[in-house]
Amino acid sequence: MDRKCPECGDVIHGREDKIFCSDQCRFQRHNRNKRRSEKTILDINKILRKNRRILQNLNPIGLTAVRREILTRQGFDFNFFTHQYVTQKGNYYYFCYEYGYAYAEKEKINVVTWQEYMNQQLVRYQITIDDPETNRP
Ligand SMILES: [Zn+2]
Repeated sequence: MDRKCPECGDVIHGREDKIFCSDQCRFQRHNRNKRRSEKTILDINKILRKNRRILQNLNPIGLTAVRREILTRQGFDFNFFTHQYVTQKGNYYYFCYEYGYAYAEKEKINVVTWQEYMNQQLVRYQITIDDPETNRP
């Protein structure tokens, strides 16, 4: 059976393990994948910057409480943040760089600025992949 180049669709001649018909097709695919992943990073950075600017404009001095809709109306995206901080009481703060927020009661949001002491309770993630044999990490 003829093998086809995934980039241009031409039939591949030559070695069995050849994936692309030519170096040109191989480079082209590589460059497109690179551009795509860079675009993902740029898109996410854009959301994070916007979130940061919205929080910054609320000018949190210590702690500022605002209605949640004030953020959403400005296009704040609650799905994106850079890191988390958990307080002694177990409340989570979600940060976009040095500005953060926490969910408060009655549709309110507490906005804070990152403080030096928070480095001690920064939430760090550890990703474990389950072993399908034992069903244990
Ligand atoms: Zn090709």
